[in-house]
Amino acid sequence: MYFTEEHQLFRGSLQDFLKKEVVPHIDKWEETGTIERFIWEKFGEMGYFGLATAENDGGLGLDLFYTVIFLEELQKIDSGGFAAAMWAHAYLAMTHLNKNGNAAQKKEFLTPSVNGEKIGCLGVSEPFGGSDVAGMRTTATKKGDTYVVNGSKTFITNGVYGDYIILAAKTDPSAGNKGISILIVDLKSDGVSANKLNKLGWRASDTAELAFDNVVVPAANLMGEEGKGFTYIMEAFALERLIMGINAHARAEYALEYAMQYMSERETFGRPINQYQALRHRLVDLHADMDMCKQYNYHVIYKMDRGEYVVREATISKLRSTKMADDVAYDCLQFLGGYGYIEDYPMARLLRDSRLGPIGGGTSEILREIIAKIIIDKKEYRSPSKK
Ligand SMILES: Cc1cc2nc3c(=O)[nH]c(=O)nc-3n(C[C@H](O)[C@H](O)[C@H](O)COP(=O)(O)OP(=O)(O)OC[C@H]3O[C@@H](n4cnc5c(N)ncnc54)[C@H](O)[C@@H]3O)c2cc1C
Repeated sequence: MYFTEEHQLFRGSLQDFLKKEVVPHIDKWEETGTIERFIWEKFGEMGYFGLATAENDGGLGLDLFYTVIFLEELQKIDSGGFAAAMWAHAYLAMTHLNKNGNAAQKKEFLTPSVNGEKIGCLGVSEPFGGSDVAGMRTTATKKGDTYVVNGSKTFITNGVYGDYIILAAKTDPSAGNKGISILIVDLKSDGVSANKLNKLGWRASDTAELAFDNVVVPAANLMGEEGKGFTYIMEAFALERLIMGINAHARAEYALEYAMQYMSERETFGRPINQYQALRHRLVDLHADMDMCKQYNYHVIYKMDRGEYVVREATISKLRSTKMADDVAYDCLQFLGGYGYIEDYPMARLLRDSRLGPIGGGTSEILREIIAKIIIDKKEYRSPSKK
């Protein structure tokens, strides 16, 4: 219903590309926590980073179902970390450039990002708190034709090996969420230092704690209007949350397919284990939950592609899909018995990687708060760009 023949051809060629160019390196990158630069350039050459970027800016300007395919296939090579590095660049950092970058900013940062020459990241979360975005403490003080940035960010995907950060900082600390602005900061600037964090999953991706000590940023690197950063972040969250929902259904689908294959081959008591009712029924429940999330996510992306502002739907997508994927990963590991626990089989990594779903990009508790405000308090979220 949603995918044309062109979409399917794209899926096939992406699968071939990932199998040939990425899969042979994944175990090494998971071990070292470093994705080598050559693969970013290859993604750039293939146009994968520019699926949602306008043709004028070097992208392909395609509908969002190409993005869905990109995300789904990345999940199916079983490295949540590799996938995160790619989509954080293409959809966390580049979404802000696509939407709010001016011509000079697009030339300097967006087009090289499409080409895989520059790697981007998004810096919102801080050591003092990630959920309370308005409470951020990093400041950007205007001095002549520059801003001077002081403060710190944490948990930043691509923050160690990236080239630039789309940074949220307070240009007017007395104005609450109306004092937040977005700046593009070159990560090689004097005064920026990065510490790589060791983590449970997403091991191929680098996650940084970043400190900014009197970092001088050209005022020309302000994105959009000063003081509008909070609304830009909230607007971008709809896509980010939907992306995490789509990642979750794809990861769950992959886990179920793998488990079903395994269960058809593994025998106990002289029968394949897929013949035991206890396992069959659990598998059916998981499959049904996965399929409900998948169809819902397709529907929401369809609405978003038509320009609808889908805050409620994207929030529900992430809330439910990431919980479903965690349940699927947990039980599929169980279906494999002891082999589920062994690194040579995909479930151990999948379970680790999946656990970030209900945390990153807005925790499930915060998402429930947002949905409660919409459905109980009748709060309306309108797209800032449509006001
Ligand atoms: C691997 C990884 C990659 C990430 N990548 C990025 C990135 O690229 N860019 C970026 O900006 N951030 C990134 N994040 C940060 C992520 O978005 C935050 O971790 C998340 O938003 C939660 O913030 P916190 O960790 O500070 O938790 P806190 O805000 O300290 O919350 C702690 C706990 O309290 C709960 N809680 C907080 N407030 C409330 C409330 N009002 N009601 C009920 N419960 C509440 C939370 O749900 C959570 O369970 C990443 C995180 C990880 C782990």
